[in-house]
Amino acid sequence: MAREREGAERRSRGLAPFGTVPATTSARMSAQKRTNTTPEMLLRKQLHAKGLRYRVNMPIPGLPRRRADITFTRAKLAVFVDGCFWHRCPTHATDPATRGEWWRQKLDGNVARDRETDEHLRRLGWSVLRFWEHEDMEQAARVVAAAVSRSDR
Ligand SMILES: [Zn+2]
Repeated sequence: MAREREGAERRSRGLAPFGTVPATTSARMSAQKRTNTTPEMLLRKQLHAKGLRYRVNMPIPGLPRRRADITFTRAKLAVFVDGCFWHRCPTHATDPATRGEWWRQKLDGNVARDRETDEHLRRLGWSVLRFWEHEDMEQAARVVAAAVSRSDR
């Protein structure tokens, strides 16, 4: 039976068997995994469920190659979900043992760039909210929703 053969073929390629997710959805999901962190997607889903609409990965005006994770342009609100390792969360930051100095400089550079981005956005009249990837995204969504509704008043 052709369908059975195809099912076995899909499994051998590491794809989901039939009846779980459609092939197009699973391809889209694996593409998203490469570009979006899971906590950020969770936050976006929560925001969407609250009826909020936003832009994703908006280039930051005046800062080449920098983007804001989630933006509310009318409210002038930029939201970031920072990875604990890359942005040095105080709870989970670790310094890799090998090439320690190289990593230290790289990670310090990330943190300095985050602060610079925040200051730049604030100078442009934007508000900035940052969350760590370890934070409760339902709670984060409530904080974002409150900030958006404040800007409406
Ligand atoms: Zn953390």
